[in-house]
Amino acid sequence: MNHDRSRDPASRAADLVRMADTPNELEKARLARYAAQTTDPPPMGPQGIATDGCRECRGTLWREPDGCRWTCSGCGHVEMDKAR
Ligand SMILES: [Zn+2]
Repeated sequence: MNHDRSRDPASRAADLVRMADTPNELEKARLARYAAQTTDPPPMGPQGIATDGCRECRGTLWREPDGCRWTCSGCGHVEMDKAR
């Protein structure tokens, strides 16, 4: 069966939660909300998906494909790469 999971919001939310690999229930809820609110997949770089907390609104920062920029899905706050 050729099922395109990227078109299924529920599957996409589940994928995001799995990829983010977080035990934080709040973060999981944010990921599910993010998946429901967006039609495009999250920014995906060569190193895969990465998320962090936004210090402006405590939303979810997504790493951009260029790998050195982070954008918040909640407030649009942008951070340059952080030493992690
Ligand atoms: Zn934010």
